[in-house]
This record gives sequence, structure tokens and C-alpha cells, in this order.
Amino acid sequence: MFKRTDTVPVRVGNLTIGGNNEVILQSMCTTKTADVAATVAEIKRLEEAGCQLVRVTVNNKEAAEAIKEIKKQISIPLVADIHFDYRLALLAIENGIDKVRINPGNIGRREKVEAVVKACKEKGIPIRIGVNAGSLENHLLEKYGYPTPEAMVESALFHIGILEELDFHDIIVSLKASDVPMAIAAYTKAAEVIKYPLHLGITEAGTLFSGTVKSAAGIGVLLNAGIGNTLRISLSADPVEEIKVARELLKTFGLITDAPTLISCPTCGRLDIDLFSVANEVEEYISKLKVPIKVSVLGCAVNGPGEAREADIGIAGARGEGMLFRYGEMIRKVPEAELVSELKKEIDHIVAVYTET
Ligand code: SF4
Repeated sequence: MFKRTDTVPVRVGNLTIGGNNEVILQSMCTTKTADVAATVAEIKRLEEAGCQLVRVTVNNKEAAEAIKEIKKQISIPLVADIHFDYRLALLAIENGIDKVRINPGNIGRREKVEAVVKACKEKGIPIRIGVNAGSLENHLLEKYGYPTPEAMVESALFHIGILEELDFHDIIVSLKASDVPMAIAAYTKAAEVIKYPLHLGITEAGTLFSGTVKSAAGIGVLLNAGIGNTLRISLSADPVEEIKVARELLKTFGLITDAPTLISCPTCGRLDIDLFSVANEVEEYISKLKVPIKVSVLGCAVNGPGEAREADIGIAGARGEGMLFRYGEMIRKVPEAELVSELKKEIDHIVAVYTET
């Protein structure tokens, strides 16, 4: 089994995916790639949210040509998503793309595949093979009858074989399905036989709510098994939400070191303050921090002080006020109306100390 750290490292721009490196978070732009201003604006929002690698569709010549200008204005590596047309891959490579997502078996004649591989080799650009349960090759559908995890892995090995035959090894592989058990089985089987880094994803997972649940279930099982080197959460939502979900998921498995954590209680009849508002405001406030601060927001004095003491900073609600805890010590009582602003001040202070040290 090639667990996360056993995979071969593959360079993508200034990042390395695979081996001992952290799990890389990625997303995909929803803009028309040829609209440089809109695409750059979206990438900057994604980057601010914690996105480390971003993909754009390259579905026409204008999109491939826009890469040059987009690259000048962003600082994270850029991936071109290409289907079938090798000329677009060549143009994207010429214009400075950092990685290409294309399936060599779908490009066509051998000389076309060779041309893409040669261009990638010359510039040190990796290729992601993107197997999708919904678009398996006909010969595999004939063999298996319908998409199965075995068929998906065979598809990946088929495309890998084409690249390896050309002595190309900067490969990353994804095996996406919208069916969660199928995706889990495909990635698990792939990890047994594929040494290259795996890009995790549950494709077409759904809206913010259902897609988050499906993605967390599927990708969570894989991460917990030590599988996966990079991931994209696919949501029918603002792609910034994909990054938020991805970061939360990595945090859950201890795979991210620079993210804040919010602990908040579900509330009950003992609640004496408007906890949902406080928790939501604090969550929004800390979401962009790149500091492993732990904040707790608890509704009452039953579990509140205990949890608050475990956190860097926390509150436990009381009637119309809150007890403020810093590193386990109750530092003062704060009126309910000032809870959020006082918590923010304390968070700023902890962040300042952390970033100085
Ligand atoms: Fe209820 Fe207090 Fe527990 Fe929150 S911390 S769920 S308000 S008992």
C-alpha cells in the first residue's frame, strides 16, 4: 500500500505534492478563463482562504492564451484542465502553466501524446491523470459492464502506462466518482498499486450542505487511512467554500498545522446568551487566520469553564455576561454585548504573540 508519505514526490510550481509533504488544498475557478480580471480576482480570494493550487478550464485558444497574464498576477501554481485537445495543452504549457490535467489515452494519435509529454518534460510540468467514473473508456465499460472501482483503477493504470512508456514520471492521479463508496474503493485499490501522489475528490458532490457531507465522508475515510496527497472539494457553491471545507477536513485529521479551531457547544435549555451569533461571528473572524489558535465558545457554566480552560481563549456564558478564559485562567467577566469584541481583541493579542515568536 502506498500511503500518503510513501508516494513519489512530484513538483508543481513551488510546491511538492506527495512523499513527506503536507496535503495540498486546491480548487477550481468558476470564471471564464479568458476573462483575466475575473479569474485573477477569484484566485486571489481563493488564495486568501488558504487555496494552494488552482485549476482553470482551458477549453479554447483564448483561455490558453490568458494563462500568461493570469500567471503574472497570482502567486500560487496554476493548473490547466484540458480534455482531448493536445494543441490547447501545448499552448497552455507555452504560456507558463504549472501542471496539466489531461488523460493521455484521450489525446489521440501517439505523436500528439509525445508532443505533450515532450513539452511537459522540457518545462518540468507534471500531468494529472483524471479518471472519472462517469467517463470511463469504452473498452473498460465493455469489459466491466458499468463503472466499478476495478475499472477506474484499470483506467488509471492504462493512462499511467502510456506516460511511463515515454519515460514520463511526473504523474498525479485522481479517481473521482460521485458515488462515495465507489470513490473510496477506487482510491483504496489505487493506493495498493499506484506509487504516484493521489488527488482526492468526490466529484459532483452537490450543494454546500450535501456536498460537504458527502465529501467529508468520502475523503475523511481516505485521509484517515493515510491515503491522499492533495484534495479538492467539489461544491455547487462559491469555490472559497470548497477551501473552507477542505481546511476544516484537514484540521479534523491533524493534517494542517496553521489553522485555527473553534469549539462551540450545540446549546441547550441552560443557555443564557445568544451563542449562535457569537460562535458564527468568531468563526468568521478566525477563518482567515494562519495560526493554530484554539477558541472555545460555550453557552453556560456547566461544561463551559472546562472547555474554555483547554483552549487558548474562550468564553463560558452566564446570565447576560460571559466568563473570559485565557490559557486556562478566568481573566474577567464581560457583558454579553461586548463578548465578541473582547474575544476578537484577545484573539488579536494571541495572534500577535504567536507571529512574533
Ligand atoms: Fe448546554 Fe451549557 Fe453544554 Fe452548551 S455548554 S450544551 S449551554 S450545558
